[in-house]
Amino acid sequence: MTGMRHSWAGGLATGVKCLALTLVFACLSFSAPVSAADPDNFSNQLAALDMRIAGDEIRTRIVIEFEQEPEFSYQFLDSPHRLVVDLPETIFSLGDKAADPRGLISDIRYGTMAPGRSRIVISSIGPMKAEVAKVMESETDNSFRLVFDLVAVSDLEFAALVESQKWDEIETGDTQSESATGLLQGDEKPFTVAIDPGHGGIDAGARGRNGAQEKEITLALGKLLKEKLEADTATRAILTRSDDHFVSLSERVRIARQHDADLFVSIHADSIRIRGVRGATVYTLSEEASDEMAHQLATQENRSDLLAGLSLEDEPDSVADILIDLTRRETQIFSVNLARSVIGTFDGVIKLINNPHRSAGFRVLRAPEVPSVLVELGYLSNVQDEKLLEDPQWRQQTADLLVSAILAYREKVQVVHN
Ligand SMILES: [Zn+2]
Repeated sequence: MTGMRHSWAGGLATGVKCLALTLVFACLSFSAPVSAADPDNFSNQLAALDMRIAGDEIRTRIVIEFEQEPEFSYQFLDSPHRLVVDLPETIFSLGDKAADPRGLISDIRYGTMAPGRSRIVISSIGPMKAEVAKVMESETDNSFRLVFDLVAVSDLEFAALVESQKWDEIETGDTQSESATGLLQGDEKPFTVAIDPGHGGIDAGARGRNGAQEKEITLALGKLLKEKLEADTATRAILTRSDDHFVSLSERVRIARQHDADLFVSIHADSIRIRGVRGATVYTLSEEASDEMAHQLATQENRSDLLAGLSLEDEPDSVADILIDLTRRETQIFSVNLARSVIGTFDGVIKLINNPHRSAGFRVLRAPEVPSVLVELGYLSNVQDEKLLEDPQWRQQTADLLVSAILAYREKVQVVHN
């Protein structure tokens, strides 16, 4: 099941590099009198027994199990993004199956750095921070767990984190947090829109009766929207995919976060059971679906990762908790404003469904800090909609209206913030 994940993680899933034991034994053979075969020689040495990784591209948990309580320190490095964990000399007795890279993690290596020092280097697919980094004692046996909860962050936040570590080295105290905030505020970034063309690659999305494919429509409109948005020099647009390849739902959210997106617009043209239903609809996130159709659509959309062979079962509970994250409440108000802006701009020009603002538990809309909407441009289950969705002129007009809606939203938000 993780094969899929690896292939688009850039083929980095080379697995865990089991250098450790060889190096430890090599060291011991130089200090001649001790025999590596005698277990007593290891009695004071730290031993890592197991390593597990769970989660997705937004939040990943790493648990490393130790026989004794480990003393550890850690730091983040860039180019590429890495978490480096320093430990006293450690025997790594981790099986091959341990720590198959997944979620944010692309590769893990470990081994001896110098006599008395070992290191674990955890590479990731993008910028991250540690929300949790602690040792927990097991209640059932005498083992200890080193736990890292890694969360995807923006490039800017990661740069500030790396910078603050440098300050840490020079002096301790509050200076480093000031410098980190300074870096965050000092860089004026343009208003950034993450455009998310739905589906892609193995996940083709809906197909119309005359052969139109959702993944092609969403990509074409996404590219058009990016081009038109960037005609406004104060706006930057990024695409979560720019060609026909599969991107998981959480990776789409992570990309938006990495670029510090001010909003997230997912574009779709799905099929629904009732063929007569047509027109654009704008969806926002809610725990309870606004109606049966929204519920069915969200269920269908959320299956995208499963269709591509990804497993969701290992996700930590906290992922589900994001739905009730406090920051989400404020984000939610902005999401609804954006939805209204799109509907208001479409009204009278682009055909809208009855009750065009609906809501349900779409996984792709769950970035707690990025106002997000999912726009169904029309429904491929309806032949008239299919015809429009394939019409270049209609696409131009729709993209123009989306730009107007987004810029109107931006103006409103800037008034609120100033
Ligand atoms: Zn779709």
